[in-house]
Amino acid sequence: MLQVGLTYRDLDLLLYTHIHPDHISDLVPILFASKYADQPREKELLCVGGPGFQSYFEKLKNLYGSWVESQSYPLTIKEISRKELVYRDLRIFSKPMAHIAESVGYRIEFKDGKSMAISGDTDYCQNIIDLASEVDILVLECSFPDGKKVEGHLTPSLAGRIALESQCKKLLLTHFYPICDQSDVVSQCSPVYPGEIILGEDLMRVVL
Ligand SMILES: [Zn+2]
Ligand SMILES: [Zn+2]
Repeated sequence: MLQVGLTYRDLDLLLYTHIHPDHISDLVPILFASKYADQPREKELLCVGGPGFQSYFEKLKNLYGSWVESQSYPLTIKEISRKELVYRDLRIFSKPMAHIAESVGYRIEFKDGKSMAISGDTDYCQNIIDLASEVDILVLECSFPDGKKVEGHLTPSLAGRIALESQCKKLLLTHFYPICDQSDVVSQCSPVYPGEIILGEDLMRVVL
């Protein structure tokens, strides 16, 4: 974040897809840093997650106590509902994903008419196709290469199928397990999805 000119203090809204450690481990450091005595956070922070997110946060409080509680700023921990969430200029929609019982994906619609969807972790399911319908960019997990599929995760060709069926305008693949380095992910995806395929990298910025 510092390398793209942002700090943890600039965050206003955190959208979590599920509570697996590779997706949520930054939450505790962010909350802890927001209490640093030299410049404690004052503006509101909204953290949104799927079903069970509030109980997860209660467990964190049991573990860390006041270290993760907010005193100087309003902190809202919210479980997203089936209805849309309006946050400033954003309209946010979610649906359950085929991963764990608590996992959700998001569709975010911007004021200028652009839209994006993000799966978090998921297997092939109709919900991500519906969420991503005609979005400007679809961010899909792509954990394992074709031929090495693991239940609850996608491969390049399955991600391509979701992209094709959702008619998204661009596909960005991310969440590669190390085994993906041994495969040509794009060449497994492109026969299925004819649109632009981007392989996600740290610090990448995408213009819609
Ligand atoms: Zn996961
Ligand atoms: Zn994951």
